[in-house]
Amino acid sequence: MDEHHLWATILADLELQVSEVVFRTLISQTSLESLDDGKAVISCNNPMLINIIEKRYHDLIKTTLRNYTKKDVSLVFNARKNKHLNHIDGPLFTMKLPDNFSPPSTGLKLNRDYNFENFAVSSSNQMAYAAATAVVNNLGHAYNPLVLYGGVGVGKTHLMQAVGHAVGQKNIKTKILYCTGEEFTNEIIEAISTKTTVTFKKKYRLVDLLLIDDVQFIAGKYSIQEEFFHTFNAVYQAKKQIIITSDKPPEEINKLEDRLRSRFECGLTIDIGNPDFELRTAIVLIKAKQKGYELSMESAKTIAANIENTRKLEGTLTRVISESQTKNLPVNNDLIKNILGKTLKKIPPSKKVLPEEILKAVAGFYNLKISQLKGDKRDKVYSFPRQILYYLLRTEAGVNLKDIGEFLGGRDHTTILHGIRKISNLLSTDNNLRGDVMGIKNELFV
Ligand code: ADP
Ligand code: MG
Repeated sequence: MDEHHLWATILADLELQVSEVVFRTLISQTSLESLDDGKAVISCNNPMLINIIEKRYHDLIKTTLRNYTKKDVSLVFNARKNKHLNHIDGPLFTMKLPDNFSPPSTGLKLNRDYNFENFAVSSSNQMAYAAATAVVNNLGHAYNPLVLYGGVGVGKTHLMQAVGHAVGQKNIKTKILYCTGEEFTNEIIEAISTKTTVTFKKKYRLVDLLLIDDVQFIAGKYSIQEEFFHTFNAVYQAKKQIIITSDKPPEEINKLEDRLRSRFECGLTIDIGNPDFELRTAIVLIKAKQKGYELSMESAKTIAANIENTRKLEGTLTRVISESQTKNLPVNNDLIKNILGKTLKKIPPSKKVLPEEILKAVAGFYNLKISQLKGDKRDKVYSFPRQILYYLLRTEAGVNLKDIGEFLGGRDHTTILHGIRKISNLLSTDNNLRGDVMGIKNELFV
């Protein structure tokens, strides 16, 4: 296999292992420059992305490459300078905000801690993260509008503001405007009553990046929606970037006018899931580091195991640190228990799922016998759960295509590939399927 062909095969395999957005925005941008002496040089058309790819996908790419070359290969990530990208100055994610960083737009109120560096990525928010970084690199063109939705505390505001910081750092002249749906509403009401609607209109319509947080607030408020729609249209038609967050997916904001909804849907809508235990642990560690405090992994895990609400993580951590410092006590389970005022839950063991467990969970979920799931019958009642099984074996247990085929009694790997592709594509549009997959995963991870 020549290098070009090999890389195409590896990309096809990687496509199955990451979400569609990650693949489209990051992985698919790479090419294999050379492969010899146990060294693979991987480059990317967009030099800004290479750092992210290296940081987050090094191991995945390495393992996948090894599956095909059957050799241990070390990876070198190389930014290939593209003539038309020369204006981009260096990797975004190693840049730090200078201490005297002043927001690029007057009155821009972003929380300085809500940046990409302080954002932990895990399976529940990986797609949203990839889309947000793509927007930074291609303002107004990548995904417009980008709509992030998810429950309270999943990191919508943090991620949205991270885009604001990154865009501001790239170009200090970019006009950025951040406001919540509530502030937007209050400003309109104020503008109407003080007859300053022209100023209002100018302010919102002359931006390069419009960030509207918690848009669900304006649903049902007719005249506000009307103004929001005009603003939105003006910004959108000028090909300026819009990012919106909502605690409900657009199709569920009943009272948001149809035309608003259809505009939403022409961009990219991504849901952010609730952070799992591992992600909460990562968040506690990040917050501790921000406060200049060395927290042990054990304590971070204990806090994460006992607090589900991410918004409470930081407050708890602050109390733990101050209690330890004022009373000169070590941070340990006793101290944490005292602060939480309850018996501590145990740290969940880190669990690796086995193919057999996935097989059982899928069969159980769809009320099928294992033999039916493994069998050859092509009726949809069997074939669809079977394709979900392929998908979960690949994504949750990391089994490769060939081994999935063998595990299920000698199926051809192209059949498996087809099934996995189908499920990953459907997952972005089909809510029922998403619900099923989540239900099965819940069974696997309790
Ligand atoms: P939302 O807007 O979705 O309600 P926030 O963005 O306000 O959630 O996040 C709540 C808290 O949790 C914030 O302190 C935020 O920094 C933190 N947080 C949430 N997700 C992450 C993440 N992936 N990495 C780091 N911190 C996070
Ligand atoms: Mg928020």
